[in-house]
Amino acid sequence: MRYLFTFILSLYFVSNIFGQSSPGLKISHLTGDFYIFTSYNSYKGTITPANGMYVVTNDGVMMIDAPWDTSQFQPLLDSIKVKHNKTVKIEIATHSHEDRAGGLDFLKNSGAKTFTTDQTDKILKESNKKRAEFTFKRDTTISLGQYELQTYYAGEGHTKDNIVVWFEKEKVLYGGCLVKSTDAKDLGNTQEANLTQWVKTINKIKQKFPNPSFVITGHQNWDHVDALDHTLNLLTNSMQ
Ligand SMILES: [Zn+2]
Repeated sequence: MRYLFTFILSLYFVSNIFGQSSPGLKISHLTGDFYIFTSYNSYKGTITPANGMYVVTNDGVMMIDAPWDTSQFQPLLDSIKVKHNKTVKIEIATHSHEDRAGGLDFLKNSGAKTFTTDQTDKILKESNKKRAEFTFKRDTTISLGQYELQTYYAGEGHTKDNIVVWFEKEKVLYGGCLVKSTDAKDLGNTQEANLTQWVKTINKIKQKFPNPSFVITGHQNWDHVDALDHTLNLLTNSMQ
């Protein structure tokens, strides 16, 4: 196992919701001040993992997306407090789905500044979902402490509004649900997907960020940098 430590913070057996036990919340070290958190929810009757990321800075924590399992919002904040003695100052959601934007209101109420694109905000508003406090129109950068993230909208794919997040210095590409894990056998939830455009979108990302050290996927294992190519393969296969 490549990462330094993996531990299960809390073991919840929510059999009444899932019909099977959920592993709760897992936090894994990525590199330096970067951590991946994984929570679980039921998708088509199967317990499915969803990944998010946080970065510990001198001025608090930046979070990309939030746990899919809403019962893990507070345990995640608690564990960040215990482990790093920091609070979350910034949270950005990478598209409008529950596994990304579901924590916006909770994080806002906990004191974080929350962000989405205007496009994601519009979708959340139209579907009567909780929205971020702040929005941005074009690609932007957000800084906290010694770290700066860069957002990039390369076009439609998994959804109309999916963006990726890039940390230039550390070459960390957070792909979210736009990028499929090398463990993924199919494209997952494609209800709002645009398969033809998705190919172009992935190629644009590959061009813009040619040598990522890490590529973080929205679901399943995230420890293969060739996840972008795997996504292209899945797309090609699905369109044959
Ligand atoms: Zn997803």
